Amino acid sequence: MSTTFGGRAASVRFDRVTKAFGDFVAVDSVSFEVDAGSLATLLGPSGCGKTTTLRMIAGLELSTAGRIWIGEHDVTGLPATRRDVSMVFQSYALFPHMTVMENVAYGFTVSGTPKAEARERAEQGLALVGLKGFGARLPSELSGGQQQRVAVARALVLEPEVLLFDEPLSNLDAKLRRRVREEIRDIQRSLGLTVVYVTHDQEEALAVSDKVIVMRNAAIAQEGTPRELYEQPADRFVADFIGDANLVEAEIRSVDGDLARVSIGGVEVRVPGRGLPVGRVLAAIRPEAVLLEGQGGGGLAGTVRKAAYLGKHLEYTVDSPVGELFVIDRRIDDPRPAGAGVAIRFGDRIALVPDAD
Ligand code: ATP
Repeated sequence: MSTTFGGRAASVRFDRVTKAFGDFVAVDSVSFEVDAGSLATLLGPSGCGKTTTLRMIAGLELSTAGRIWIGEHDVTGLPATRRDVSMVFQSYALFPHMTVMENVAYGFTVSGTPKAEARERAEQGLALVGLKGFGARLPSELSGGQQQRVAVARALVLEPEVLLFDEPLSNLDAKLRRRVREEIRDIQRSLGLTVVYVTHDQEEALAVSDKVIVMRNAAIAQEGTPRELYEQPADRFVADFIGDANLVEAEIRSVDGDLARVSIGGVEVRVPGRGLPVGRVLAAIRPEAVLLEGQGGGGLAGTVRKAAYLGKHLEYTVDSPVGELFVIDRRIDDPRPAGAGVAIRFGDRIALVPDAD
């Protein structure tokens, strides 16, 4: 496989960037940095400003205030054509009447690159995405996953300083999504590309990113590695959005160094305190941190409301004195039927967040 691509990756920096459409502020004084050669995702619910942020990196929207850098260059006022950035769209945006080869070579055709060189680069690009030998086909003769790979190849061959993906997997089925996202991550890593990737799918973001930037209401709610976000969510929103946490009212009884002694419905657990004061707090309890035992085992008394067998694990909805709990249990040989009484304990995958919105 050719590795002649890459090597031009640049960092991206936003410094208090705002985008208003008339009176409506879609992105509100947002600052972040994406290191050269890394993959960052913009994650958040519909309408939070992800796509607008991505389009401002591309120059498809110009910011209302703030500054944007790509590498050493302040690109704030530059239009898309003067930025060294390529974008892969959710809809693939392939030209239907052109062959796969012509689609991938399109950028070279426009820039007047000699035909033989354009063809060679396009062939290398297709090989990179696993589509060697597909050059003569029309897009309509490819599957959705293959069409998306053509779109990736078309963006890659231009060797942009930054490669942007706008919900690239939305049109693919679940199995293919996983495969294509792994391919994108592999290519990004092996070529050392800078990628900014928009998604509203938290699992996808955790799976592919060096850094996840969680957005909410036009601002950044939290940024960090997938692990930091999962294990130390900053607030209720992030805890809820990432990893299906059970959000339960709790009380910090005392703090001993980094460890807090926390009461959840009277059951005591010790978890990292993160500098929170004694008093009311919200415990974000991961579904796999709720442990169900037979009745009489101590802990909180609960009742299984729903039980589902999912092959690799069991999922339960359990009524408890601290509210409804969603539970993932890997002990598939020890199922508990709906209606069963259980004793609930808590494992250590619990994060504390301030009890405020
Ligand atoms: P989604 O996941 O639904 O695509 P998003 O997080 O990408 O959402 P954006 O597309 O960035 O959100 O839009 C943010 C807000 O800005 C939305 O409320 C949207 O309606 C608004 N918006 C986006 N583009 C324009 C525009 N050209 N004119 C007016 N409002 C706009």
